[in-house]
Amino acid sequence: MSRTAKIDENIYCPKCGKHEHQVKHGKNKSGSQKYRCNDCGMDYTPEPRPW
Ligand SMILES: [Zn+2]
Repeated sequence: MSRTAKIDENIYCPKCGKHEHQVKHGKNKSGSQKYRCNDCGMDYTPEPRPW
């Protein structure tokens, strides 16, 4: 079973909610993968946060 290597996980932009156009954009201090939405330009870390 192979997935398309386009998007690693179920990455959605927290701002505009898009699933496409999400690209890796470095990592934060704790080493978590950061992503960027090329649709709206939002930088975010797709991990559960203690809201
Ligand atoms: Zn977006």
